[in-house]
Amino acid sequence: MLRNNFHPAMENIKLSPIVSISEEVRSKENLFKNATGKDFIKFQRGEIDFATPAYIVDAAKNAMDEGKTKYPKSGGEQVFKEAILRKLERFNKAEGLTTDNIIVTYGGQEALELVFKLFHGEKTGGFAPVWSCIIENMVPYAETNFIQAPLGKDFSVDFDKVEEVIKEVSLFYLNTPQNPTGKLFTKEEVVKIAELCAKYDTFLLSDEAYERITYDGKSHFSPVSLMLENTISAFTLSKTYSMTGWRLGYLVTRNKHITELAKLTDYTQTAGVTTFLQYAGAEALNNVEEEKKAVTAMLKEYSLRREALYNGLKEIDGLEITKPDGALYMFPDFSAFIPESIKGRQREVYVYNQLMENGVAVVYGSCFGEYFTGNLRFSFSGVNVDQINRGVARIRETLQR
Ligand code: PMP
Repeated sequence: MLRNNFHPAMENIKLSPIVSISEEVRSKENLFKNATGKDFIKFQRGEIDFATPAYIVDAAKNAMDEGKTKYPKSGGEQVFKEAILRKLERFNKAEGLTTDNIIVTYGGQEALELVFKLFHGEKTGGFAPVWSCIIENMVPYAETNFIQAPLGKDFSVDFDKVEEVIKEVSLFYLNTPQNPTGKLFTKEEVVKIAELCAKYDTFLLSDEAYERITYDGKSHFSPVSLMLENTISAFTLSKTYSMTGWRLGYLVTRNKHITELAKLTDYTQTAGVTTFLQYAGAEALNNVEEEKKAVTAMLKEYSLRREALYNGLKEIDGLEITKPDGALYMFPDFSAFIPESIKGRQREVYVYNQLMENGVAVVYGSCFGEYFTGNLRFSFSGVNVDQINRGVARIRETLQR
C-alpha cells in the first residue's frame, strides 16, 4: 500500500492559524453582508495595503530589460549585498562588516528558516508571545524544542526568566519590534539579552522585519551593531518597502562559518534569489531620497491607524491594552470578558468567536504560544482609519451586549 505518512519534520508543520482564520472570514463574509448589509472588518491580516513604490518596480523592469535574468551568484548578487552593507552602516550603525557577512534570502522567512535549520534537533527558545510562524512552521521543520520565556502582562522583560531559558538553549529568538505585541525592545534590553546569550555561548537570532516601523520618534536598535560573533540578524524588504510578494530578505552575522553554511543550504534549496529582484532590491536601499518619501508616507498612515485603534480600544471598560511602539499590531487582553464557566479550548476562542459573528476578524492569543491566551491580536496593516473606527464600535457593541 502506498504510504501516506512522511518524515515528522514535514508532517508536524501546521497550516498557519492566521491562514485558517482568513479562510473562515472568506466563508462567512458574504453571509454576513447579506444578513446585515455590512462588510467584515479584517484585523487578522498581516498583509500590507500599500503598493510597492514605483522607483523599485521600475528598477525591476529595467533589470529584466538589461538581461539580469541568469542564475544569481551564490549567497547573493554583489550589487545587492553592497547596498545592504551601506544600509547596515547607515541605518543600523553596524561597523566592520563586509559583504561576506551577508546572505541574500527569499524574505525574512527563509533567513529565519536557514538559521533554525542549523540547530536541528536542539533546544531553542524565545519570548512569549511569539510570532505564530516560529512555533507552527520553523520549530517542527527544524525538529527543535522551543522553550518560551513569558513577557510580563505589560510586555516587560523579566531577565531572570530570560536567563533561565538562554542558559538551556542553543538558539534564542528575539523579534523587535515584535509581532504580535508591537513591543519595541529598548537598546538596554537588546544589549542585555545579547550579553546573556554571549555569557552562555547561546546564539541570538534577531528578527528585525519591522525595524523601520516605529512610532513617536522612537527607533529600533539592532544587535548587528554589537561586535558579537553569536548574533545573527534576519531582515526583510517586505514591510519597509511594501514588498511582501517579492520575497526579498537577508541575514547578517559576524560569524563567517554561519554565512558559509547558510550560503550552501540556501543554494541547496533555491539556488539563490531571483537575479533581477536583487537589482531592484539594491535600488530600494540605495535610493535614499525615494526611500525617505515612501517610508515617511507609510509611517504617517500607520501612525494614524495606530492612534485610532489604540484610542478606540482603550475606552472599552475591562479591556487591558499596552500601546505599541512599533510594528503593525496590538495585543490587548480580553480575559475580563470570558466567563469563568467557560473552560479549556473554548476559553481561547470565546471572544474571538463572538467578534467573528459580528463581522470583526482578529487572531486569538493561543496562536502565539502557551501564555497570553486571553489576548487577541489586531493588525492595522490592511485596514484604514474609517474601518478601524467601525470595527471598534462593533467590538464595543458585541462586548457590552
Ligand atoms: N518576522 C516576522 C515577525 C513577521 O511578522 C514576518 C512576516 N509576517 C516575517 C518575519 C517574514 O516576512 P517575509 O518573509 O515577508 O520577509
